Amino acid sequence: MEQIASAIRNIPDFPKPGIQFKDITPLLADGALFRKTIDLLKGRHKNNGIDVVVGIEARGFVFASALAYALGAGTCLVRKPGKLPHSVFRKTYDLEYGTDAVEIHTDALRPGQRILVVDDLLATGGTVAAAIGMIQENFSVEIVEVDFLIELAFLHGRAKLPDLPIHSLIRY
Ligand code: AMP
Repeated sequence: MEQIASAIRNIPDFPKPGIQFKDITPLLADGALFRKTIDLLKGRHKNNGIDVVVGIEARGFVFASALAYALGAGTCLVRKPGKLPHSVFRKTYDLEYGTDAVEIHTDALRPGQRILVVDDLLATGGTVAAAIGMIQENFSVEIVEVDFLIELAFLHGRAKLPDLPIHSLIRY
């Protein structure tokens, strides 16, 4: 885990002053460490009967698709507005200034499916809470776990997902 953590680069004041941006591109570029990261997630879920791994745009897609492949599951995209071509469900959420939204295709999930939701990083939890709220309001699926590579624990994003199992590989 230390090797994985040390391959994540901290970029101060990106994209704006005060943000310590966790840059995962060095980790993704290292074949052995990227595989190890996916294997750690696969190890948690290989006997969980996962049908679909839901990835959140954009870096969540990288982990969700690799994990889905490793588990023999499907993958599904939660995207920013206006990117998905078919009919969508949408959920709007508040940012510090203004609002944002996430969308999912209306036929993305089927009743009874067991799903994972994956993103690269849990910060305030606003994005993932919106994605999960949207899924729970529109689909009768079982969310088995919500997985992150990185959790910024001091932002208490977990508090936005009180009733779900949450797992992060690396905590700051
Ligand atoms: P939030 O909705 O606050 O939990 O933000 C989560 C999303 O924003 C994730 O999809 C991350 O990719 C991105 N994000 C937020 N904070 C950071 C950070 N410090 N470093 C890198 N990505 C971040």
